[in-house]
Amino acid sequence: MKTLTALLLLFVLPGLLFAQTKPQPRPKSFEVTAPARLLLQPRQPERIIDVHLHAALSKVRDARSQGEEIAPASVDAELRELLRLLNEHHVTVGVLSSQSLTVAERWRAAVPRLFLVGPHVRAGESGPQVETLRALYRDGRLGVIGEIATPPSDPAFGRYAALAEELDVPLGVHSTGFGGSTRENHPRLYEPVLARHPKLRLYLMHAGYPWLEETVSLLQRHKTTFADLSMINYNIPREDFHAYLRSLVKAGFANRLMYGSDTGGGPQTADHMERGIDAIQSADFLTPDQKRAIFYDNAVRFFRLSKSARALSEAKGNKAEQEISRVNRDFDEGERQRDFAAIDRTLADDFIWTTFGGTVFDRAETSEHLKSGDSRYELYESDDVRIRIYGDTAVVTARLLRRGRNSKRDLSGEFRYTRVYLKQKGRWRMVAYQMTRIGQQ
Ligand SMILES: [Zn+2]
Repeated sequence: MKTLTALLLLFVLPGLLFAQTKPQPRPKSFEVTAPARLLLQPRQPERIIDVHLHAALSKVRDARSQGEEIAPASVDAELRELLRLLNEHHVTVGVLSSQSLTVAERWRAAVPRLFLVGPHVRAGESGPQVETLRALYRDGRLGVIGEIATPPSDPAFGRYAALAEELDVPLGVHSTGFGGSTRENHPRLYEPVLARHPKLRLYLMHAGYPWLEETVSLLQRHKTTFADLSMINYNIPREDFHAYLRSLVKAGFANRLMYGSDTGGGPQTADHMERGIDAIQSADFLTPDQKRAIFYDNAVRFFRLSKSARALSEAKGNKAEQEISRVNRDFDEGERQRDFAAIDRTLADDFIWTTFGGTVFDRAETSEHLKSGDSRYELYESDDVRIRIYGDTAVVTARLLRRGRNSKRDLSGEFRYTRVYLKQKGRWRMVAYQMTRIGQQ
């Protein structure tokens, strides 16, 4: 504990004093990076998955401790700040938990496919019911169970572990002795949990620091267990973090460690994220491949993200993909609501439509055909939408579900289509559309 006191005196107290006047300076002793290496290697990883985020952690916690539910919109500023930083650091996926599932859901819905969300349960708190989580899972809205700080000895913990195994959803557990935590989250205590739930995909948040030996032994015995490097990558001296990380890598776990920040849009997010990333980038005992694994590849495997993570990174920060997805939906909605002006806006001047019957319409003919018809749809919806972008051209393939009729016949059916979009004067517009009926007799 002597070191902890020394640490407090050295870093925290001066930090608090400085905080009154200017942003907290980075303590000198954190700088172990040789300047020459900085020139050889870019400081910012190409892409990152942050496996440890909390939605507006302190505000949600403060409301909860007053016995109140926070109004989700009241922490939108934190969401904006977090998005700015995730974008700046090339974070393509974030694992986000919150004590308020309503806040987590609002953040998840705000940015398609950026966040995997789940409950954050602090020690001594009763978290959400298993049935609530099960319902979220059924809706496709539960990406993780955790951060769970409830000690493994607590029956509530047992229920979360059983659910995580049953649904095959990762379970993230708070495991560190740093910051005066009790030994109730000691890595050793997760051994019996893993013995009871052999298929559980567990990850130790904060990598069990400082309990190196037990963390190594747990990871050795359970090949599906991973660990995140959150909080210790900026909250302990850089030398201590590097020594711990080096030992884990030496023990053979470079392919099971993941970057995490343990932030969520509060005032210190920028500082913690930057220092946490730099702590890994500056570890000269790691090869470039090992760094890439820690920042990205390991999390892709652990969270089984390959498809969505790839789509996100190809979409260059989501923006183009989101725009195309919106125009594509506008077209469907235009059809469903007979809103011909809306359809018109989505089509390029030299648009060509090949129908499933083999008829070819240009833009004017399409317009005429739609207006003269009397089709009515109750359902006109694309799913399994895949968007690929090649510069100013995008190819969208999807399945179309259609239910409706006109005065002559039933128009219901299932189709596959390819739509090609081109970016013209800053707007994505459809230049080609070909559809095929599925299972045509
Ligand atoms: Zn934690």
